[in-house]
Amino acid sequence: MSVSTKRPTREEAEAAVRTLLLWAGEDPQREGLLGTPDRVVRSYEEFFEGYRIDPVALLERTFEETDGYDEIVLLRDIRLESYCEHHMVPIIGRAHVAYLPHRRVVGISKLARVVDAYAKRLQIQEKMTAQIANTINEVLQPRGVAVIIEAQHQCMTTRGVHKPGVSMVTSRMLGAFREDASTRRELLAMIGRSPAGSID
Ligand SMILES: [Zn+2]
Repeated sequence: MSVSTKRPTREEAEAAVRTLLLWAGEDPQREGLLGTPDRVVRSYEEFFEGYRIDPVALLERTFEETDGYDEIVLLRDIRLESYCEHHMVPIIGRAHVAYLPHRRVVGISKLARVVDAYAKRLQIQEKMTAQIANTINEVLQPRGVAVIIEAQHQCMTTRGVHKPGVSMVTSRMLGAFREDASTRRELLAMIGRSPAGSID
């Protein structure tokens, strides 16, 4: 990511929130809103903490004592919280991340943290899906990687076309998951069909 402009100060960020409150028709000086700019700026630090996480470093520690385990490793239903880069509203859903180990495995919590590292940024779902898969592929060099994300975009549910209940599904398959239909089928069977409406 290139940052061409200087990062504003916290005070400047809080002033920008006051401007948006005025734009919405509010009075930033009323009691209930006095602490809001501070809280919004703190929330932004959480929402966008992915910019401060190095996904490659997360995957560098691996374990080789696997007794030759070479079947699918799947982490299913990872809660995903991201933010649409066009409207800056939440994308909420879940990710399934799988790989086929080649000699070494990684701690499973690290896979979930790689999802967060890319999700907690301004994103589009297609790019985020590819970034997660590509990073796991490049660092672990497994025999295959699959990332499937299903998510609801609040820019579609609470504004614009107002279509709640619609989820978007994206996937990126690499290596054996891409080339071998039976490996891909095995993965999809392991993930199973998700019950409707369970994303929240
Ligand atoms: Zn959007």
